[in-house]
Order: sequence, then structure tokens, then C-alpha cells
Amino acid sequence: MMAFLQREIWECPFCGEESIEVLVRPSVYVAKRSAVRGGRKTTYHRVREEVVILSESCQKCGKKKDEIEKKWRSEQII
Ligand SMILES: [Zn+2]
Repeated sequence: MMAFLQREIWECPFCGEESIEVLVRPSVYVAKRSAVRGGRKTTYHRVREEVVILSESCQKCGKKKDEIEKKWRSEQII
């Protein structure tokens, strides 16, 4: 499976400063082969995009990575 990772700078959900470095893996389709009657079948599963926060904390307001992640998850951003 090929997936390209992309580094981006996102806005901090607390202070709005563009200071959070994240690694984004876009949503991809993953092929899955399974044995079926008469041969093999390939189905595709969509994998949700993944975001990994690289910054340990916001450089502007000092909020920690886990607080930022929790906030983004609660707002369904990630
Ligand atoms: Zn901040």
C-alpha cells in the first residue's frame, strides 16, 4: 500500500495561531483479496485519513499535544 504523508501546519484550537505541526495521511483505498467460490475477489476498503500531531505543545499558548488532540477529536476535525 502506498500512502504519502504530508506535513502541515494547523491552527491551534485554543489560540488560533498556526503553530501546530501535524502529519496527515490522506484517506486511501486499501485492496483486500479474499477467496471466494470460483476464484479470488478483490474488495476495497476506504481507510479514514489519519492525523498525527508532531508538536509537543502550542508554541503560542502552551497547550499540550494531548489537549489539542482531544479538542480536535471532540470537534470531529480528526
Ligand atoms: Zn495555542
